[in-house]
Amino acid sequence: MMRKLLAKILYLIFYKKIVKSSLRQDAILSIYGHDQQKEPFEKLIAWLVNHDYVFITPEKVYSLILGNEPLDKKYVWLSFDDGWKSGYDNVLPVLEKYQIPATFFIASKGIEDGYYWYSRAFQNRESDLYKEVDELWKIPNVERSKVIDKLPAYKGPRITMNEEELKKLKRSGFANFGNHTHDHVMSDKCTKQELSVEIDKCSLIMKNITGDDCSFIYSYPNGNLDVNSVEVIKEKGFKLAATVKIGWINLGDNPFDLRRNEFNNGCLEENLMQIYGLWTPFFNRIKRLLGVKNHK
Ligand SMILES: [Zn+2]
Repeated sequence: MMRKLLAKILYLIFYKKIVKSSLRQDAILSIYGHDQQKEPFEKLIAWLVNHDYVFITPEKVYSLILGNEPLDKKYVWLSFDDGWKSGYDNVLPVLEKYQIPATFFIASKGIEDGYYWYSRAFQNRESDLYKEVDELWKIPNVERSKVIDKLPAYKGPRITMNEEELKKLKRSGFANFGNHTHDHVMSDKCTKQELSVEIDKCSLIMKNITGDDCSFIYSYPNGNLDVNSVEVIKEKGFKLAATVKIGWINLGDNPFDLRRNEFNNGCLEENLMQIYGLWTPFFNRIKRLLGVKNHK
């Protein structure tokens, strides 16, 4: 409730900036989500459609940043990371209703298991094996994997899409797919060999389920990347790779360092500030002023 009120106040403060951003045609608006509820997601999409945005695929993004086609419309590229069950339950009906495409970056082990390793880690956060779940994003992948294997099993309902749901997503004609590694590994915490195996595994499993080998675009899990991981994805022939850096996609941008702004399940006013990159930097500035450390 407090957050909603704050969003409405900030929306008024940022109103001019939002209007100015919403008129831009010189760059691609790049937005992504994770586990979406239907109502806030549909409100955001309806707003974008009513404001004449044209939803595009990664192929079109590629063509636009290379300058093969003119940037002459309000283009938006919509993507989702991981493969959450809500992608089928809540996102797909909205894509179908508005007849728009979206990219789903799938971590294939999640589809097999029904959960992600970080969900299992969070469920067992009282474990003596680590102080905070965040630590596990920062250690070498082999170490992380050993810790996860020692934890009690994941409990609770499935949180990821199953194979049948992925197939239906593909059959709808509105979903396209990207590689997000098999076990949602941090690209920069793997050796080149480990990362290569992880990417190939995801490609193979996705090819078997959807017929799409997910070799055009990659999304760095958690946005982590380094020189080695970029080399691996280039060697594998990917054309694009997405980060979680805030910003627009411009003509001439590095195709392996695409910016994206995250939206969530907040109210429309909050999500408009999120997609135009106003929300997070504002709160980071406040935190800096207050001397609060950012734990992410
Ligand atoms: Zn992810």
